[in-house]
Amino acid sequence: MKDLKLPPLQRMWARCPHCGAKTVLYDNTAQCSGVHIKCTRGCKKEFELKIVNGKQVQ
Ligand SMILES: [Zn+2]
Repeated sequence: MKDLKLPPLQRMWARCPHCGAKTVLYDNTAQCSGVHIKCTRGCKKEFELKIVNGKQVQ
């Protein structure tokens, strides 16, 4: 039997590019574009959430 070890999931906060406030949680397997999020904790602006290979792109 082959022991397939998956890398552990790491969860990170996607941050608002305008003010740096935490918005949503994603993990290191995430891929995302075309998702628009409103910054509710900070500046209240909308931004597009882009995640490539588990990293937020701003
Ligand atoms: Zn903000």
